[in-house]
Amino acid sequence: MEPDLTPPSGEGYRRLSLWWDGLAGPLRVRPALDGDLSVDVAVVGGGLTGLWTAYYLSESDPGLSVAVIERDVAGFGASGRNGGWCSALFSVSERTLDRRCGPGSGRAQRLAMQATVHEVGRVVAAEGIECGFHPGGTVVLARTPAQLARTHLEIADARSRGIGEDDLAFLDPAAARDRVGATGVLGGTFTPHCAAVDPARLVRGLADVVESRGVRIVEGTTVTSIAPGVVSTSRGTVRARTVVRATEGYTRTLTGHHRDVVPVYSLMIATEPLGASFWSEHGLSDRETFADHRHLVVYGQRTEDDRLAFGGRGAPYHFGSAIRPGFDRDHAVHEGLRRTLVGLFPALSGAAVTHRWGGPLGIARDWFSSVGMDPATRLAWAGGYVGDGLSTTNLAGRTLRDLIIGDATGLTALPWVNHRSRAWEPEPLRYLGINAGLRLAGSADRAEGRAGRETWHARALGRLVGG
Ligand SMILES: Cc1cc2nc3c(=O)[nH]c(=O)nc-3n(C[C@H](O)[C@H](O)[C@H](O)COP(=O)(O)OP(=O)(O)OC[C@H]3O[C@@H](n4cnc5c(N)ncnc54)[C@H](O)[C@@H]3O)c2cc1C
Repeated sequence: MEPDLTPPSGEGYRRLSLWWDGLAGPLRVRPALDGDLSVDVAVVGGGLTGLWTAYYLSESDPGLSVAVIERDVAGFGASGRNGGWCSALFSVSERTLDRRCGPGSGRAQRLAMQATVHEVGRVVAAEGIECGFHPGGTVVLARTPAQLARTHLEIADARSRGIGEDDLAFLDPAAARDRVGATGVLGGTFTPHCAAVDPARLVRGLADVVESRGVRIVEGTTVTSIAPGVVSTSRGTVRARTVVRATEGYTRTLTGHHRDVVPVYSLMIATEPLGASFWSEHGLSDRETFADHRHLVVYGQRTEDDRLAFGGRGAPYHFGSAIRPGFDRDHAVHEGLRRTLVGLFPALSGAAVTHRWGGPLGIARDWFSSVGMDPATRLAWAGGYVGDGLSTTNLAGRTLRDLIIGDATGLTALPWVNHRSRAWEPEPLRYLGINAGLRLAGSADRAEGRAGRETWHARALGRLVGG
């Protein structure tokens, strides 16, 4: 797949990612809004947040009229381009949740996230969404002494919180290598709470299901502003009792929301399908998703058709929270990912990289994902998932259903509900701070690789941009 910097359209959407390229064709683009519209619930953004919300609303109250308004096509954003980890990861640590929201908050959020992985699996099976959902868990490797020290700390912390072997197991070097036959493995962890999925098949399949239930999805319709009861678009005005903002990394394009969530790019590559001899030597026999304990996040999965899809942060943050099709491909970052992947699996040195892509994910200033609704204005939102939104969007969708319908449930009592993050700094502070964090996280990894040294200050800054 050659780099193409023009905005995609029609079949051109296949260039968005490996996953889009693999969708059975032809690709259908839904009609745009054709004038004014009145509905009970207007959802802005046709990614997983918007579609899960529409799904659960239509399930709970088929009489409710729901419209999803999408600027491009459903699944255009991060939802159709991600690493396919349907995990129980949450952007805020359990300890921080307990400290900020009260004892037990972190555990409640963790259990809700773990249940969400199963819920996604339940729905895709029930609705016949063939997205290769495979719950093989996650292995996080330790490949330097510093990474191993972090692994031991993570296990000790988990045990101190009552998290046992079944939820997070320590892997000795042999057990870790058995799962993921990478170089330099000193140990690792395994959690069963993750499934590998094909995200484009998930989000596009969900859009079809939602539509078949009577939800109206309009594509090619840009929302310019949101106000209580009114969504202004390029193609007409939508009036709705409840308006849901589900625009994640793109939120800054809405009037008045410029500094709510910053778009930070994550980039990915995929190899050609790899032969049986590669897999017999390198594990991943249960399609475990995998990463290592470096500061600047990397993530991989063995795809259903036996490729390695591998991604990482590290692309620069763009001044003014800019988002452009050209930012989806960055030669230096993609080449760095290829080198990292070959470093993990030297047998890949001759393997072709067939796909290179990327996209913006969304980060709130305090790193705190949130979902909520203001009962006075009935403006609702969800997002700021950092890089862990694939399954979290499902929890958001179910929670928004309860908030919109007015049911006080266990979901509406979770600590992330109605959390408000402060705005990001104005430029140029935002640009300088985020890119400094990125550079420091990268140099900390290089330093650890050379000297096995721990650099905690850089780790903390790396969290700012690395997840
Ligand atoms: C490369 C990459 C890898 C990732 N890997 C993982 C992973 O493995 N696991 C994981 O959990 N998470 C991962 N993430 C994050 C995850 O994909 C997101 O958190 C999640 O998809 C967010 O879904 P969403 O619906 O909120 O946002 P999006 O999918 O970004 O959807 C927002 C939608 O809103 C539309 N929109 C924007 N502005 C407007 C407007 N003005 N009017 C109308 N529509 C608008 C966009 O076109 C878009 O379709 C990754 C992200 C990226 C980019």
